[in-house]
Amino acid sequence: MSEALKGYKGAARGLLEKFGVNVWDNCTIQTTRGEFKGIVLPRSETDDDLHLVLKLASGYNVGIEVDTVTDMKAAGRKEAHYKIPEKEFPSSPNKPNVRLLGTGGTIASRLDYRTGAVIPAFSPGELYGAVPELADICNLTTEKLFAVFSENMGPEQYKKLAIQIGKEIENGIDGIVIGHGTDTMHHTASALAFMVQNSPIPIVIVGSQRSSDRPSSDAALNLIHATKTAADSDIAEVVVCMFGPTSDEYGLLHRGTRVRKMHSSYRSTFRTVGDIPLAMVNREKVTPLRDNYNKRRRDRHVDILPYFEERVAMVYYYPNMHPDMIDSLVENGYRGIVIAGTGLGHINKPVYPAIERATAAGVAIYMTVQTLWGYVHMFVYDTGRDLMAKGIIPAENMLPEVAYIKLAWALGQTDDLQKVKEIMLTPICGEITEREPYNGYLILQGGVPEVEAFLRTIHK
Ligand code: ASP
Repeated sequence: MSEALKGYKGAARGLLEKFGVNVWDNCTIQTTRGEFKGIVLPRSETDDDLHLVLKLASGYNVGIEVDTVTDMKAAGRKEAHYKIPEKEFPSSPNKPNVRLLGTGGTIASRLDYRTGAVIPAFSPGELYGAVPELADICNLTTEKLFAVFSENMGPEQYKKLAIQIGKEIENGIDGIVIGHGTDTMHHTASALAFMVQNSPIPIVIVGSQRSSDRPSSDAALNLIHATKTAADSDIAEVVVCMFGPTSDEYGLLHRGTRVRKMHSSYRSTFRTVGDIPLAMVNREKVTPLRDNYNKRRRDRHVDILPYFEERVAMVYYYPNMHPDMIDSLVENGYRGIVIAGTGLGHINKPVYPAIERATAAGVAIYMTVQTLWGYVHMFVYDTGRDLMAKGIIPAENMLPEVAYIKLAWALGQTDDLQKVKEIMLTPICGEITEREPYNGYLILQGGVPEVEAFLRTIHK
């Protein structure tokens, strides 16, 4: 695609060509909604072709509908300098070798202040230019597997990642870091936890809530923590490494199957749910908070199980849900449904017959809880027993997203629903635990400044 019209296609591209305007041109646009002045920004290839994006003098970006434009005039250019100074990443025989696999997300972007465009920055040289500390930790090589925001991650990407991880392990790498958008990081973490079993090395998923050249960005620190974990820690599991407290004191390592994004904008957004995190990490060291994790090994054995049935759905129950929600999934050929029910695992009575029809049609249905913390308990009320009699299987304390991924993974391996049940209810990588901590539910995770300050006055 030509740089002059970067990212523009279809109608939007036609308009720019018609008026002889290029990306980065400072221009005045007449529209049926008035006049706009600003710099034409590049767009991503996946954006629509119905808008131009303009950076106004105020700093804001506006989308201008193509069919409102009556005239455009360019007057000078103001191109963004979006190359980070690239330096060759140094290599030392004494340092561990870490591989960074990029999938996209904010961590793979930085913001150009002059233009406001978010652009990718990824090669080892660029990373070294931006975060030189990485070279003190390891020898880093990188590969960009995908460049997507994480809502676009899915089965195809999960499988590719798992297979690539298998190859990297076979080739002798000491640790893997996966750069990922934060929004669905916990889905990918649990997919990889099921697809990559018995890994001899750490597999660390990392992202950032704010792009790397915003002053409050968490990108560099998260990357340092993740790289430190991949290079040095003895935790040979799929983990998520993100900000611990709201300050930048330390990062937390969360087990891939017990973690969830819990806040849309805080940097301390990832929390271990129903358990305590695996470890704390800072620039100097990784400090385990528990000892029941898979330890690093020297051998190169790993089991790669890249299975995924796409016809699996997750249904978040709401009062007054109608039975056709379930019927339509069955009619459309879905083979598995995970329900996030209320309280201990409930849905309303009118849906019961639909559940019966679905299970009779051979659809696997599992119940999880919207409360996130705690177990499904379907023996407590008659309604729960009724539901179980109709074929719903309680999924213990699996998080809804994790149960969804696991069911898709299980149905990807077999049609035998008894085997699927065995897989679903046998703990594989921490997704089901025997008990949850009994003395609180955000233990050792900090994150609330008032509470931390209060605790400090007690524990001097
Ligand atoms: N929307 C972005 C993503 O998940 C957010 C992020 O990277 O933090 O890809």
